[in-house]
Parts: sequence; structure tokens; C-alpha cells
Amino acid sequence: MFELLDRDAAARNHLWLQHLAADFNLKYQPEIFKFSWVTKREHVLITYLVGCPVYPYIRYGKDSKTRIKNLKSFLASKDFAAECRRSHGSVLIVKHFENVIKHLKGIKEKNSFRRLIARLNRAATPWGSIILASPDSRREREFLFNTVLMHEWAHILLLSNKIFFQRIAKRYWPLDEGLATYMVAWSKGHRVLSAELKRCRAHLRKERNRFKPYAIGTLKISTLLKNKKNAQERYIAIRRYLWRLQHV
Ligand SMILES: [Zn+2]
Repeated sequence: MFELLDRDAAARNHLWLQHLAADFNLKYQPEIFKFSWVTKREHVLITYLVGCPVYPYIRYGKDSKTRIKNLKSFLASKDFAAECRRSHGSVLIVKHFENVIKHLKGIKEKNSFRRLIARLNRAATPWGSIILASPDSRREREFLFNTVLMHEWAHILLLSNKIFFQRIAKRYWPLDEGLATYMVAWSKGHRVLSAELKRCRAHLRKERNRFKPYAIGTLKISTLLKNKKNAQERYIAIRRYLWRLQHV
């Protein structure tokens, strides 16, 4: 039953992507939009080890080297347990992860990571692999397809159109997150978008909030794209912004 649901949901998402690409004047290549399942525990460990810059991971160090050093305390922490209960998805650069786990000692996942890398490499695209953490319920699965996968595929759509703020400087990552978040909310209509922007403003008021950088990025992109009337205008605004950041 899940298999059928997967195929339906994936087909629906492909159709949605096609529209999204057209609405932002982007090229759409259907063959690069894939994903692979991993377990929740694997997803959390991957996110941790590749150096994901959000809270709570950031409490255990900024780079992979420090994270490996602190792995034991992370595994024993409440943060780890709490993260393993959440829904997750992300874009993974498999090569990067492969380099990180070379330095890993004494964790039981190492072999399963090696098998996972081989599997992900088979389904890899030039823009990275999408991994989704296996859900515990049908409801969570729907959330993964309707929200998480759309967000991750928006990243792939942008990357394949060479729109990547982090290429200019790593510190611009909230803009990549903001643009993907904005596009997904925008594509779901005015009500969803204004609810998303409201949520973003609320995140700004909270300390140590994992969504704060996303919120900052989303609000910046929303200001940038305000009053842009069509796909061409939205595309040009994004390109100009990239150009400006590159030349400051
Ligand atoms: Zn993202």
C-alpha cells in the first residue's frame, strides 16, 4: 500500500515541480528528481556528521572533525533522542559524507553507512542525493511527501539551474533555505504563503531556534520577490541578487 502511495505522491510532486519551474522561469529536468529512504537514526547521524549548521547540532561543534570528537556525548544526549523522533529530509553530497566517515571509529553504523553510500551513489544526480527519514505512520509519510520532499526537490531545481547562494560564501546558506521555503509556500497559494511568513516572523523572536536562519532567509527572499508580477521578473530578481552578492 505504501508503495502505491509513494508512486502517486511522487507523480503528484513531479507535476507540481513542473509548474513551479515554469513560475520561476527555471529549467525542469524530470530525471534528476529522485530520493532514497534512510532510517531516522541514520538521518540524524548523517546530518550531525556532515556538519549541519542548525540548532541543536551546532552545540556539538561547527565542523565534522569536532562533531566526530563529540559523537559519544551527542549519542548519549537528549538532543539525539529528540532528533530521532522528528521527520527529516535533506540534500546530501554523498562524496562529502564518504570523506567524513573515513575518520569514524567505533560506531556500529559504519558498515551500514558504507552500504548506504553505495546505494545512494547508484541513485545520485550531479546535484546530490535526497534522503528522507522513514516515517512511523501514514500521516508522517504524507507530511514527508507534501512538505519535506517538495522543499528538498526545490533545492535540486535551484541547484540544477545554478542558483546556489552558498557558492558565493558558505554563510549565505540561509538564503538557499529561504528561497526553497518561499517557493514551496508560494506555490501552495496566497494563504499558505502568508501563514508561512507569519510563522517566520514568530521564529525571529525565539532564541536558539533551529528555524531562525530559515526564517531570516525566507523573509529576505519575500522582500526581494514582492510585487514581482511574473516568472521572468522573479527570475531576474533572483539572478540580480546573486550577482550583487558576488560583487560586493
Ligand atoms: Zn533546505
